[in-house]
Amino acid sequence: MTGLEPGMFAHRSAGVVRAAVSRVLPGLGRLRPLVEADPDGAGPAGTRGRPGRAALREHEQRVTREWEVLRERLASLARERLADVGDLLSDARLEFTPDTAETAVRRDYVWAMEAFQAAGKILDEAADLPDLAASVVLADRAVERFAAAHLRHAGRRPPAPVVRCFYNPLHGEAERDRPNAAGPHGKRRGQRTQSAREAAARRRPACGPCRLAILAGQTPDVLPALSTVRVSRHHTAKVFVPYYAVPQASSLWSATCCGAVDDDAPARVLRGEHRRRRAGMTP
Ligand SMILES: [Zn+2]
Repeated sequence: MTGLEPGMFAHRSAGVVRAAVSRVLPGLGRLRPLVEADPDGAGPAGTRGRPGRAALREHEQRVTREWEVLRERLASLARERLADVGDLLSDARLEFTPDTAETAVRRDYVWAMEAFQAAGKILDEAADLPDLAASVVLADRAVERFAAAHLRHAGRRPPAPVVRCFYNPLHGEAERDRPNAAGPHGKRRGQRTQSAREAAARRRPACGPCRLAILAGQTPDVLPALSTVRVSRHHTAKVFVPYYAVPQASSLWSATCCGAVDDDAPARVLRGEHRRRRAGMTP
């Protein structure tokens, strides 16, 4: 490599992805209410008592249609993002092979290549929205580590890894914990006990809009996953649930925040662990 130009890695930045995500994925809070618990047993919203077979069927069709639209939009976004990242990683200006003596550089470089390979594999095999989200997250992390390899190679220190929004890792970077981030009375000891909402807003890394939603007592724009629940002895229904509510035993994405928090995520994907968990097999 001949030189690191500022902004070289800002190609299709996370901000652009965030704007696109807001356009294509409304988030769980804004999706049509689906199955809600009611005193007579869980039934599709708007029904009272035990839902009839026709109501369940109609509900199921509506959820499936909504899910298919979201899935297609997110798949299109993921394909576009991976194509951009692929272009960046193969950019002749940035191409380099780390020297064998450069252990840290090589580690970052190999990780970036594996993460991008894993992102492509997930995209090819995607079954649900969190798969597609994980594909984008790993592609973005590949760019970050690729940039880190270049910086180290140039004798510079890479920035701290990006901490992503827990509620939807596609939202990008979580707000850094600032002393007064939770409100005017913030964290200063002895001033005031944190309210329950302030505590909830601090519990997980959250982007600005998600943190504000929690502080306002609203549902943040959570990344939805499709799940099947039993609504009566003989019937099940498809529902949207937060991706992190899926049992970790059956979702690598629930366990790793869509690959955002686990450095082993690319290797686990390349070993097929995401498929085995989905199939209910022990990883
Ligand atoms: Zn967020």
